Amino acid sequence: MLLAARYVLPVSSPHIEHGAVLVRNDEIIEIGEFDKLREAHPNEEVRDFGLAALMPGFVDLHTHLEFATMRGLVDDLPYSQWKLQLMEREQKFDDRDWEDSALLGALEALQSGITTVADITDTGASARAVAVSGLRAFVYREVATMDKREIDSVMERALSDMAEWRELCDPDRVTVGIAPHSTYACHPELYTRVAQLAVQEGLPVSMHLAGSREEYDFVKYGSSRLAVDFRDLYGGDQLGWLPTGVSPVQYVLQWGLFDVPNLLAVHCTQVDESDIEVLASNDVAVAFCPRCNAKLGMGVLPVREMLQKGIRIGIGTDSPASNNTLDMFDEMRIGLLIQRAVDAHEQFHIARKFVKLATLDAARALQIDDRVGSLEVGKQADIIAVDLSHGHQAPTAYPYSTLVHTANQENVLFTMVAGDVLYDSGSWGSLDATHLLARAEEMRDKLRA
Ligand SMILES: [Zn+2]
Repeated sequence: MLLAARYVLPVSSPHIEHGAVLVRNDEIIEIGEFDKLREAHPNEEVRDFGLAALMPGFVDLHTHLEFATMRGLVDDLPYSQWKLQLMEREQKFDDRDWEDSALLGALEALQSGITTVADITDTGASARAVAVSGLRAFVYREVATMDKREIDSVMERALSDMAEWRELCDPDRVTVGIAPHSTYACHPELYTRVAQLAVQEGLPVSMHLAGSREEYDFVKYGSSRLAVDFRDLYGGDQLGWLPTGVSPVQYVLQWGLFDVPNLLAVHCTQVDESDIEVLASNDVAVAFCPRCNAKLGMGVLPVREMLQKGIRIGIGTDSPASNNTLDMFDEMRIGLLIQRAVDAHEQFHIARKFVKLATLDAARALQIDDRVGSLEVGKQADIIAVDLSHGHQAPTAYPYSTLVHTANQENVLFTMVAGDVLYDSGSWGSLDATHLLARAEEMRDKLRA
């Protein structure tokens, strides 16, 4: 199939006007000017999107598909209160609710041009949702306990779930990993166990880290509202916790997690220069969630400092529970504007850079940039088409600026993963949108009850 549009943005090379991409099976075969490709392949079926951009699909570097139904459920509260309220409401969900909630997340991801998700899941519903929907994914099994005596059973259950998910998913599209919950919900020996397993088996690991002032205060000074309330509600208050005197990043460093070869730390807004040094020297990748961080008052990622140190950064949404949509255009736009607002450096943050953070750089953070993240011959055909023909977008002088400053998720026309068309102008291949939207209403009533 020959995909054509006014702009083709390979991301790894300059954009092409009136360009085209030739796709066969799951791969990109050729990229160039439409007229030349058309002449070379006269019998190829053509899909022309007109005044639109063809670009690599977004790599959402951090999300929780199963939280899609939590959209707007707990708004306008700071991180610690938001987290606790959400955890209380979650108790009302049964297995079927989690499954449909994750499918609703997959539905929105595909409609928003997201082709890869790095998802942390507690229930496993996300693993089933990516298997059904065809999304490319890293699915990390969350583990948590503050009680040393429970570590064996927690790890056993996680290993058994991970084996089940590997059976369920296509290994070419889905990689299973593990995710220790957070500094306030994990015994340090759980970190060590996860690290040993990940090093031995080459498992990818993702973890929320240094994402709020409350977490920072808990680790360094021994107490904070989040930690006290969390431990009261979910156990652990009798287990004792002493101030460590160090930042969350330095604390985690002591327990071996930074030895993991494919580690993705999420948020990292509460870091100083020496923390950044630790992340850089251990080659830890960072998921940058600008909207969630701003909305929940978690802080601002020091993007320039991290990039200067060579840290691999990409953009993530962190699920509709926090931000409230899986809209990578909003993430790019708001991320760029916040960074400019706090860091008006003479080397200005630019739109093209933010498109790269949402595609190729995020793929690099997951160590899959040899296969996805840009439009290049031989790479997987993970391609989206974004409509740029609306009045508020005309005239389109420079496609990167148009995408970042004027586009939104509803401008996505078409989403292809590994050559499979998974979303096309309001229709999904394998997902029943009418059913899922009706279920979303039912689940919302249940959560509110
Ligand atoms: Zn998260």
